[in-house]
Amino acid sequence: MKIYLDGKLVDAAEAKISVFDHGLLYGDGIFEGIRLYEGNIFRLEEHLERLEYSAKALMLKIPMTRAEMSGAVCETCRANGLKDGYIRLVVTRGVGDLGLSPWLCPKPSVIIIADKIALYPKEYYEKGLEIVTVATRRMSPAAVSPSIKSLNYLNNILAKIEARQAGALEAIMLNDQGFVAECTGDNVFIVHKGKLYTPAAQQGGLKGITRDSVFDIAREIGVPIEEHDLTRYDVWNADECFLTGTGAEVIPVVKLDGREIGTARPGPIFAKVLEAFRRRVRVEGTRI
Ligand code: PMP
Repeated sequence: MKIYLDGKLVDAAEAKISVFDHGLLYGDGIFEGIRLYEGNIFRLEEHLERLEYSAKALMLKIPMTRAEMSGAVCETCRANGLKDGYIRLVVTRGVGDLGLSPWLCPKPSVIIIADKIALYPKEYYEKGLEIVTVATRRMSPAAVSPSIKSLNYLNNILAKIEARQAGALEAIMLNDQGFVAECTGDNVFIVHKGKLYTPAAQQGGLKGITRDSVFDIAREIGVPIEEHDLTRYDVWNADECFLTGTGAEVIPVVKLDGREIGTARPGPIFAKVLEAFRRRVRVEGTRI
């Protein structure tokens, strides 16, 4: 496997960064997870834009232009003969002294990995996930904006550990007000009386690219959609629930906190969204 590292394609075994990189020492860096379908990179421009927004928030200067980055992502896919897979794009703060100061790190590093990913076992896409709400709250935007896709995922990892302790593969995280923010690596949608709802990004979720595409899909299939505050009660009493994420794609949820959602089977609107999603990913995107 070839990894893109600071302008060069190197063997995976040679793709190494310094122990003094602040990405490792402090989680100081940003990333994107991107999907490749049949040689098309899904919403690459949107991913690169979000990367730039994360970089701006951290005052991290990405050492390449948008076009160069786009070219490097495509090149890495081609070098690995990848047609379907998952791309991990990472920009670290780079090497610096011990001590937090980002301005002592002169050169950010760019890493691109093009590989495969399977987030959940296949069976759950048919029968649906049974998930739980965890006690770990999603970080307040007043502390660290959840819109920043940073290398510091401890908030989500703590929630993931809690989910596993409870025997679940994924968890709903609430914000500090008690409203649904998102899952540890996915956005949350419910269906109630024929309408789709998802929390506004201001409620503490990442502005998901897959989430965005569900807004376009809803328009396409003629299902009304709205950003709305959601509580656990709303999810328990929804007709359907599903999660979206680049890794997870679109996956149904049939139980939350032991409460069956709707018929406890993946619902008809989920099925329509999934079908439209599958169709779009094959045709939309940047050709590698
Ligand atoms: N929330 C979190 C915390 C995430 O890490 C992700 C990405 N895996 C998502 C939501 C979904 O975002 P996207 O659709 O852009 O992958």
